[in-house]
Amino acid sequence: MLSLTYHNGCEKLTFCVNCNVEDKNIIDGLCVDCFLEGKKIVELPHHVDLLKCVNCGDYLIGSQWIEGVESEVIVNIVLSTIKLISTAKIIEIKPIIEKQDERTFLTTIQTAIDIRGSIRSDKSSTIVRLKNSVCKKCSRQLGNYYEAIIQIRPGKRKSCKDLCSETITWIKNMVEIRAKTNQQLFISKIQNVPGGINVYLSSTSLSKSLAHKIANMYNTEMKESASLIGSTSDGREIHRTTFLVRIPSYRVGDIVFHNDHVCKLNSIGRNGIQATDLSNFRHFFIKKSATPSIKVIAETEEIAEATVVHVSNDEIQILHPRDYSTQDIRIPPNSRIGERVKVIEVKGELFYIP
Ligand SMILES: [Zn+2]
Ligand SMILES: [Zn+2]
Repeated sequence: MLSLTYHNGCEKLTFCVNCNVEDKNIIDGLCVDCFLEGKKIVELPHHVDLLKCVNCGDYLIGSQWIEGVESEVIVNIVLSTIKLISTAKIIEIKPIIEKQDERTFLTTIQTAIDIRGSIRSDKSSTIVRLKNSVCKKCSRQLGNYYEAIIQIRPGKRKSCKDLCSETITWIKNMVEIRAKTNQQLFISKIQNVPGGINVYLSSTSLSKSLAHKIANMYNTEMKESASLIGSTSDGREIHRTTFLVRIPSYRVGDIVFHNDHVCKLNSIGRNGIQATDLSNFRHFFIKKSATPSIKVIAETEEIAEATVVHVSNDEIQILHPRDYSTQDIRIPPNSRIGERVKVIEVKGELFYIP
């Protein structure tokens, strides 16, 4: 006869139907020992194939390609295959990896398991086999996949190379940061072309936001153009978008021509440029629409200095930086003049640069 006790309103056995031992934790009518008889607590498959990308070294875990340390990835993939007997809970894990050759790893998982309050230990092994593969990202990249191109055109400036390499470094960093959470983002190709660089990217939206930021950095605008390049097998149109950023050739501090006036650029803003006319030292504003006509005479780094010989109220006498002849040049009234001043020679005329 079975004796039944009533516990929380549920029918509950308190002894094992197999060995008759009294036990509060009866599973399927059996005590833990009888329940476990002939069964494995932990089951591992005979082997596990671990796919590794030959190009970037990422591993495929589940449906995700991830970056990782080999030993940790091996443990993770083995743990993902563990099958536990019902009612069991793992309370401790100790993995041991024995490398059998470059591609084969005998992996043993030692566990402490809680089965209805009864603690058991288990040791199970499987073979992890490393297999070559190419991840999604690389298979697209290796095929030079790209959705968009950012064209950086820094204008004719002597420091143009630096600007290109600075911009490339910046783009690479930004893509790397964004790629951490999105595997589909990458740079397919960087191309030096006459007049600048082209950066090919896997994502249109990423390209757009980067091109926007670059344009803002240099107070310029970005031009977007798209072209239809074909269609997918299921009939979707494939577009390729080009984001052109023309970086003006002038910077703050440069001496430029504007409407035949020699000017110094003081600040560059969203709506235009604050400048000083060097013939009368008046400040004025160049509207953004008028900025394309600006021609750089001297970049700020190339401006020469001259030695001051004599100072009067609105004129100074200096030694010409080229031939050391004495020259009188106008200065703004009440200027503080040191021993040397910055000057620029334009069409034979010397201008003082405040
Ligand atoms: Zn029993
Ligand atoms: Zn890869």
